[in-house]
Amino acid sequence: MINITIDGVAGCGKSSIAKGLADRFNFKEFNTGAIYRALTCEFINKYGKDACPNEKLIDEFLKNVFVKVVFKDKNQLVFVNDKDYTPYLREEIISVTTPKISGYEHLREKVRSIQREFARHNDCVMEGRDIGRVVLPNAICKFFFTASSQVRAKRRLLQLEQAGESATYEELLEDIIKRDEQDKNREHGAMIPAKDSIIIDNSFETYEQTLNRCVQIVREKISK
Ligand code: C5P
Repeated sequence: MINITIDGVAGCGKSSIAKGLADRFNFKEFNTGAIYRALTCEFINKYGKDACPNEKLIDEFLKNVFVKVVFKDKNQLVFVNDKDYTPYLREEIISVTTPKISGYEHLREKVRSIQREFARHNDCVMEGRDIGRVVLPNAICKFFFTASSQVRAKRRLLQLEQAGESATYEELLEDIIKRDEQDKNREHGAMIPAKDSIIIDNSFETYEQTLNRCVQIVREKISK
């Protein structure tokens, strides 16, 4: 199977480029953040939004958790214990809470086995934080995306405005910086580029420019 990985900072266009690449090469796009987010939804449902995760609680939580990833047309749906959490994954409370639970190794282990199983059976573009370095170290092509926090906050503000939602630039910038710090500095599954990853800084590129650049790189890798 051909596996391509895209890791990188929050809000730097990983998902949209992963979708674009998957379309071009007729691969599946697998969004791993959605699994961490769905687990967070279930965690909050079970323990409340103010619950403080710790190793013991996470282990207890994992005892009765069954995750299923389903593709409906090209859309990825994530079920936890038969509940489809897909519509709730992007809620602010979920974005803020997910980094707090995604650092626990037993939880990552569970998600890792789902990710590896998928990659074993599908040509795919898998995106996340530690995919190229930890989950699929033998992937044929590994990208690590980055963009300045200011550019990412501006892009997010625009997206929210277009969706009729409100937020301020300062709030979004603070949120982005905080999430990056949490993802970078944790002990397990830290967001660090794999040694053989290709760094893509897309701060000053359009979507098409980044996509074309990546398509070219993947073509070269596949043809080797
Ligand atoms: O990619 P996305 O922003 O949806 O990820 C949400 C959160 O899930 C990240 O901030 C990170 O804490 C966690 N995550 C992770 N490892 C991945 C993908 C996401 O820890 N491979």
